Amino acid sequence: MISSPHRPTVVRVDLEAIKANLESVKESLKPGVKTFAVVKANAYGHGATEVSRHIESLVDAFCVSNLDEALELRQAGISCPILVLGVVMPEAVALAIEYDITLTVTSLDWLAFALKQEVSLADLTVHLKVDSGMGRLGFRSSRDVNQALRLLGESGARVEGIFTHFATADEAETTHFEKQLATFKDLLENLDWVPEIVHASNSATTLWHRDAIFNAVREGIVLYGLNPSGTVLSEPFPLQAALTLESSLIHVKKIGQGDSVGYGATYQAFGEEWVGTVPIGYADGWTRDTQGFHVLVEGEPCEIIGRISMDQLTIRLPRAYPLGTPVTLIGVSGEESISVTDVASYRGTINYEVVCLLSDRIPRVYH
Ligand SMILES: *Cc1c(COP(=O)(O)O)cnc(C)c1O
Repeated sequence: MISSPHRPTVVRVDLEAIKANLESVKESLKPGVKTFAVVKANAYGHGATEVSRHIESLVDAFCVSNLDEALELRQAGISCPILVLGVVMPEAVALAIEYDITLTVTSLDWLAFALKQEVSLADLTVHLKVDSGMGRLGFRSSRDVNQALRLLGESGARVEGIFTHFATADEAETTHFEKQLATFKDLLENLDWVPEIVHASNSATTLWHRDAIFNAVREGIVLYGLNPSGTVLSEPFPLQAALTLESSLIHVKKIGQGDSVGYGATYQAFGEEWVGTVPIGYADGWTRDTQGFHVLVEGEPCEIIGRISMDQLTIRLPRAYPLGTPVTLIGVSGEESISVTDVASYRGTINYEVVCLLSDRIPRVYH
């Protein structure tokens, strides 16, 4: 999608905040633990190349979700290791080798599939993924991992790492987490040999389960200054939100009692009201379920009234404002602020989803 820089809607990204969050995480780790920065999904909407370039010297590797995201980083000149966390189909293995991209192997089926197609795995670097209870991807027994280690060794691939992923690290209840950790440790104990890099920690695990840090961590959401649990658990050290979302008033009018606003005419004015139109809508990732939430205009919360359209939304203003008056959707205005997590809570979703959905139509401006 083409970005729309001539519209006043903009995402501002504070790269120094991301760097500061990364430094805080690193200070909390034992010496020698490697830091992998997760920049999948365009760095959670913050811009993968800009974020990666800004922090490359401070991380040991980047993690992305697919091969194309890895190639984007290589094309941007990123030279440090890149691990693809998802499954890359065998047809694309040659590209991974060519661009020195580390792949995740998740099953014996994948290996059989690749070998049957006579895909060369020589010189490929891989990490093995263990399903300790997430139930999505990964080996489920030490026997299968041992066989994968053998097959990969025979085919000339280098197994550099092994990892797992927790399903409930962001929750107060830890039973499932403990079970997954025990399953992973037990599997490691039964391996013929253990690859050099062992990792299990996403952001939540790093913050709240320090006993589950092996010798590397995979940090995503904390880098962007967002609490992985939303509001359930408190952060052990302060995080700085890196993203703000701003727009401005492009149309202001007074309406009378009973006048309606938006598709479906779901909103009717109680009396005389000032209504402002803001150029952002669900095509920008500002979803329809934010109707009834608010934005900030000169430090005052203004309710989003009527349905969210594809390209616009409408707000009730306390008084007339000139065109071009700034509107804060995420960020600080005067004494008030709206966080990504506030938006997520209103919508009944997670902060991850709010930032990831902000579409490419909104230009990203970096500080
Ligand atoms: C996305 C992802 C992470 C990062 O998760 P955060 O909660 O954002 O820290 C880590 N590991 C895997 C396997 C992931 O898919």
